[in-house]
Amino acid sequence: MTVLIETEGVKRHFSTSSWIQRLFRAKGNSVKAVDGVSLSIAEGEIVGLVGESGCGKTTLGWLLAGLEQPDEGVIRFRNRSMRRMSSDTRNKVQLLFQNPKESLNPRKDIRSILSYPVQKMGHKTGDQINARIRDLLEMVGLSAHYADRYSFQLSGGELQRVALARTLALEPEFIVCDEPTSSVDMNVKVQVLELLSGISRENGISLLFISHDLGAVRFVADRLCVMYLGRIVEEGTPKQLFERPLHPYTRALLDAIADIDPGSKRTISLRGQPPSPVDPPSGCRFHPRCSYKDEIGSRCWEEEPQLQNDSGDGLVRCFLYSGISEGSEQPLNKTGLHYDVN
Ligand code: SF4
Repeated sequence: MTVLIETEGVKRHFSTSSWIQRLFRAKGNSVKAVDGVSLSIAEGEIVGLVGESGCGKTTLGWLLAGLEQPDEGVIRFRNRSMRRMSSDTRNKVQLLFQNPKESLNPRKDIRSILSYPVQKMGHKTGDQINARIRDLLEMVGLSAHYADRYSFQLSGGELQRVALARTLALEPEFIVCDEPTSSVDMNVKVQVLELLSGISRENGISLLFISHDLGAVRFVADRLCVMYLGRIVEEGTPKQLFERPLHPYTRALLDAIADIDPGSKRTISLRGQPPSPVDPPSGCRFHPRCSYKDEIGSRCWEEEPQLQNDSGDGLVRCFLYSGISEGSEQPLNKTGLHYDVN
């Protein structure tokens, strides 16, 4: 598969007083929101980025969307550094905000809201603009009548569809969807996720779904990345992560999903709050909350595990699996983490 967008060793630390610092209730030291992330997304691929609040997933999404610049590392779109891209090429990367109500002007009708990006893409005459707006509304499952409505007249699901139509008007190749279903109920959530994945499949648009909800993105993503305290700790297909989660943090996240596999014997639960990204723990960043650190010993708090192959197509950052990429199953069995995949 052709890589569309990738990050290499990307870091984003917030060192001045900012909303990010207020979010983490941090003063003085820098907030290591994203701390060395390498990730690639192929053409037409849907990737889910999951983790608890404050793990850095939104900052990573903003970096990929070009709304933040990395302090270290590089972000490439079609093999070219994002820093050197023209504004036209940058338009190929768009962000779908999590709260459409706040991003749609209540004083303008939907036609006016969609007209600006439609004209920007070269539709000049009234007929061309109206035809394109009709097409966009149809793409997102709304009739042409919605063009004459105002955002305050729409439901949460309809607002999200209009926000998506506005994003699609710029003909993106990649969309960062930042918690796109956080403000809607479960029924609408499923509809919005299906709509986004359907449009992605039909038009070859790559998506990054940012969510704290592993259960919500598992049905639409080709690949899932689990983020913890500024780093990716596990990566794999939804099938791999749900049937054979390796990292103790991934297993704990899965345990938090009430509706999966009620007969499962998984017993890990997350203890306490995530440590502050201002002063991450030494060694493995998950060690203060990990039930398995005693299996490994001091290495867990003295040395940082690297993201490595997990014996399949996935990646995992945990000493429990050191050596598994060379074919040894021993570390899994020894620690009781081996899963039967049936
Ligand atoms: Fe737990 Fe150690 Fe693995 Fe970190 S490296 S997740 S502390 S077992």
